[in-house]
Amino acid sequence: MIVVTGATGGLGNGVVRGLLARGVPAGEVVAAVRAPEKAADLAALGVTVRHADYDRPETLEPAFAGAAKLLLVSSVGTDEVRLAQHRAVLAAAGRAGVRLLAYTSLVEADTNPLGLAGTHRATERAIAESGLPHVLLRNGWYTENYLWRLPAAVARGELLGSGGEGRVAAAARADFAEAAAEVLTLDDQAGRVYELTGDTAWTAAELAAEAAAATGRPVAYRDIPGEEYAATLAAAGLPPFAVDLFVDADLRVSEGALATVSDDLAKLLGRPTTPLAASVAAALAD
Ligand code: NDP
Repeated sequence: MIVVTGATGGLGNGVVRGLLARGVPAGEVVAAVRAPEKAADLAALGVTVRHADYDRPETLEPAFAGAAKLLLVSSVGTDEVRLAQHRAVLAAAGRAGVRLLAYTSLVEADTNPLGLAGTHRATERAIAESGLPHVLLRNGWYTENYLWRLPAAVARGELLGSGGEGRVAAAARADFAEAAAEVLTLDDQAGRVYELTGDTAWTAAELAAEAAAATGRPVAYRDIPGEEYAATLAAAGLPPFAVDLFVDADLRVSEGALATVSDDLAKLLGRPTTPLAASVAAALAD
């Protein structure tokens, strides 16, 4: 049995579908979710849906019962909350007798200067201390982190950010999901650490150029100070913790964070990662 947490999210949903696409019988897959009513699409595929709320530890062990492999999809929110949630999952996984724990960490988590890397480092330490056999899926930045702002950027002819000329080896979330599904179907994964990035690292100016190419309209990148960028993100409706996260990421990107390219993702996929142009074109299609 393979159990996937956070399966109502974009990544977890893709992992469950990726398992089925790889021939894992639906009866062997469990979607462990906070809100079972949101997993109707997976239930319709024959996948077992169980209630697993990171904030309600009593739900976790029953949700993980019978799991040979468990994918812990990292939670959302502030550092303190996330770490406590992840610890609760690890404790329940130990009690449930999980034989392989996979965790969606952050690329180069041990040295990554992003503020949000701290929770991933602490979670990786907690995983090591748990004694659970484990595999780390150190996901790079999602291309989707940028795509949602492109329609507005095209409309105003200008993409704003604070990443300077820093490069980001981002990859499509669907690629990360497919890679996680692949790892969950492979043998001998305990002890492995995957650094998962796109095949190419690009700048914000190159992203703007792709948006221009996809629409035939001029889009230029303009670098702005962090405070100004924060104000534009807040005005776009992002909650304060997400504003802080994105601004911090851009400022660190301007210093070279997230630029490292690894071929781990392409190797797991057995193909090149999804090109930026394809992600941008899909995001801007009507
Ligand atoms: P989503 O926001 O789409 O999904 C997050 C999932 O976490 C949802 O299924 C959500 O459940 C679940 N979740 C949140 N809180 C709890 C809880 N208390 N108990 C159980 N489940 C909970 O994120 P993605 O799928 O896109 O990404 C997966 C993870 O990757 C994120 O949670 C985040 O940690 C990280 N991430 C990484 C990014 C990167 O660029 N590397 C970018 C964005 C996220 P519900 O549907 O009920 O809300």
